[in-house]
Amino acid sequence: MEKLDFFAPRISADTKTFWEGCKEHKLEIQRCKKCGKLRWPAAFLCPDCLSSETEMQEMSGEGTLYSYVTFQKAFHPSVQDKVPYTVGVVEMEGGVRIISNIVDCEPEQLACNKKVKMKWMDCEEYTKPVFELVEEA
Ligand SMILES: [Zn+2]
Repeated sequence: MEKLDFFAPRISADTKTFWEGCKEHKLEIQRCKKCGKLRWPAAFLCPDCLSSETEMQEMSGEGTLYSYVTFQKAFHPSVQDKVPYTVGVVEMEGGVRIISNIVDCEPEQLACNKKVKMKWMDCEEYTKPVFELVEEA
């Protein structure tokens, strides 16, 4: 178990289902029942059609690195021993993008459009999806 207070999710009524799925190691993203668009983080209304009807869609965990930043300086005391660490925007099926840590790699290995896959990071109070690079043959 890893303790990362600064990274602890702020769980709301809208995002509760997502984080409960993570606890069970199920990556589920909210999908609009009316127009079918995936969205993350979960929200009460669809930003495209304003419908409030939603369902959860289980994701493959595969994606591509859309963008990323590697922090060389700790901007909060709780991450002092974590620097350098990388936060990325990962594009998954349906075009939905989620933000999380990119782990187990050196910053110089990273580039936009590289393939990544999700893995679970179990922390004391929550479980979160993080991503690692996929070895390209
Ligand atoms: Zn919609």
